[in-house]
Amino acid sequence: MPEIRLEHVTKRWGKFYAVDDLNLVIGDNSFVTLLGPSGCGKTTTLRMIAGLETPTSGRITIGDKVVFDSRLGINIPANKRKVGFLFQNYALWPNMTVYENIAFGLSNIKEPLPKVDFEAKNAARLAEILSTPGEVVKVLDDCRDKTGKIDEKKAYIKLIDAFTISQYTAKKLYGYHLESGKDVSAEAAALREKAENAKKGLNESFEAVRDGQVVLETRKLTKEEIDLSVRRVSRIVKIGMFMDRYPAELSGGQQQRVAIARTLAPEPSVLFMDEPLSNLDAKLRLEMRYELQRLHVETGSTFVYVTHDQMEAMTLATQICLINNGVLQQYDAPLTVYNRPNNLFVADFVGNPSINFVEAKGSQRADGAVELTILGDKQAVFHPAQPLDLPGWFKARDEHDALLAEEHKQKAAEKGFVEKGNKDETFRYHIAKVEEEDLSLQEEPVLTNEDLVLGIRPEFIGIADSGALAGEIYGAMPTGMESTIKVRIGDFLLTGVVFGSTLFTIGTQVHVDVSGDNIMLFDRRSGKCVAFGSLEC
Ligand code: ATP
Repeated sequence: MPEIRLEHVTKRWGKFYAVDDLNLVIGDNSFVTLLGPSGCGKTTTLRMIAGLETPTSGRITIGDKVVFDSRLGINIPANKRKVGFLFQNYALWPNMTVYENIAFGLSNIKEPLPKVDFEAKNAARLAEILSTPGEVVKVLDDCRDKTGKIDEKKAYIKLIDAFTISQYTAKKLYGYHLESGKDVSAEAAALREKAENAKKGLNESFEAVRDGQVVLETRKLTKEEIDLSVRRVSRIVKIGMFMDRYPAELSGGQQQRVAIARTLAPEPSVLFMDEPLSNLDAKLRLEMRYELQRLHVETGSTFVYVTHDQMEAMTLATQICLINNGVLQQYDAPLTVYNRPNNLFVADFVGNPSINFVEAKGSQRADGAVELTILGDKQAVFHPAQPLDLPGWFKARDEHDALLAEEHKQKAAEKGFVEKGNKDETFRYHIAKVEEEDLSLQEEPVLTNEDLVLGIRPEFIGIADSGALAGEIYGAMPTGMESTIKVRIGDFLLTGVVFGSTLFTIGTQVHVDVSGDNIMLFDRRSGKCVAFGSLEC
């Protein structure tokens, strides 16, 4: 399975940079979700990798093949990139059965494929199955109706599933009526001889394939191969029972599974999905998420999945690629993105309920702790988990900014440079207050290195008699297992998640406790995360 590599990939329309200098390596067999707010460039990124959109500049490699390079003028068309797509609007052919819908794409494939003598191959497989008739009888017994009669259609499906054979072979196998206890050793011997004869050279191609020396020629898939593929994928997505139905006779979730099966049938080594679950109801969505996880493991393919739903991204992905305004914000495993966000935007985008941001002003003491004033007039001390040199951090930030400005100046002097119209700005975090303020009316404050922001996930806000911050319950949402509470401290509101079936009454006076060593400290000017640690209030 291939690795996908994007190097300095940019897509702009006029001055609008939909994707801005993206560098990304999508590992072999990974499940990467492209996540970000609407319009951030997720779909554009996916379409560029797939070959449906031409980047303005950069280079894209799939496996060892360069599929796009703006300098070398390489641009391999989508149908030659060996990738599968699954889009939000999975249009199935209404006039075709499920089987025909899945098989349709396969019948159009024409490429170098190994030559196989199916008669001989099937004979060998059938002989093998007939050598253990008890196994077959067990499967057939499972297909008996109330009267004890075997349901023929069900038997085909079960035999296909149990022995990974085509429908053609399943019909033959059924035809032996092994449930009657008939001795089929003579038939099995005849089949074995047929296969052996083919092996002896009567049929070169069968021999070649069996010995692993694949003979390739450009040809279409045979009916038998198509059938095997259709059966294989329908087993994976569990739609074997619906093969003869038309799309209109299926539920939304079943239709979606057919669409997935159709995409999987040509065995793409990379599968691109653009919000494929967005038009399913909440329950089905959840069910399909499990299916997709299983599919990813079973197919061994690389999945690249676009979503704006952070829960979906968190639960499905091995890696999340979080984009904002065309710029990569973080590319990490879901829990790293959650616990170790690079900046305010990332911290805010993932997590439900959202993270609490608390403005803090202060500086570092000689012992390394940072003394802060928070929530109006409260004193707190941030203890970094790792040694922190705050003045050094600011110095490095300023040097980095100067370097970027210099690089930008150089780029701007190059021929053909187009200034980015959709400028990157530091994310404006939200401070929850009882009386919401209109930020647009406020003047931009002059920020110093004393201006910091704390990020506190709701699970670290607790209610305890020993808590140092006095507050009042402002709202509570009990779900049975846990309650999401809002606590008012002065004018400020903090969101917490409290586990257990405690009932909170609005207006109750409480004490808030901030626990754990995963409290985040951000630089307000750049929005970047400075350190993780604990907070003493
Ligand atoms: P959504 O979640 O809403 O689908 P997205 O992150 O997938 O959003 P894209 O479809 O990648 O967003 O679009 C990124 C930006 O590029 C958007 O602001 C969009 O308006 C713009 N854009 C997309 N296609 C074109 C085009 N053909 N011409 C001009 N601008 C475009």
